[in-house]
Amino acid sequence: MKDCLFCKIAAGEIPSDCLYQDELVYAFKDIAPQAPVHFLVIPKEHMDSAACIDEKNSAVVAHIFEVIAKLAKEQGLDGFRVVSNVGESAGQTVKHLHFHVLSGRDMTWPPG
Ligand code: AMP
Ligand code: ZN
Repeated sequence: MKDCLFCKIAAGEIPSDCLYQDELVYAFKDIAPQAPVHFLVIPKEHMDSAACIDEKNSAVVAHIFEVIAKLAKEQGLDGFRVVSNVGESAGQTVKHLHFHVLSGRDMTWPPG
């Protein structure tokens, strides 16, 4: 999608610290990490948020979770949190579906 930051990152038009990519997904380090480990996993195809997931596009979400598990295993993460903010009130600042993966410190619950 034109003028979407994460579409441009997935296409390699804006530099990022890539951890993994394939034909469907792109994983990269968050530019402002909120934990010692903080990376994002996104579909290469634009979707606004998790509110757009339906029976036609949900396969990529399953794949994203496979990639998260693979990266967590590779990095030896014994505990981690997966977060997807949906909408401004929930803290979404980039309107391209993304899953935060946070680890390396104790997490509190509930999140703020
Ligand atoms: P959210 O606030 O849930 O929409 O998450 C957006 C995330 O994207 C934030 O954690 C930002 O730090 C991160 N972010 C913004 N721009 C970049 C960038 N150019 N490269 C990597 N991460 C970014
Ligand atoms: Zn996009």
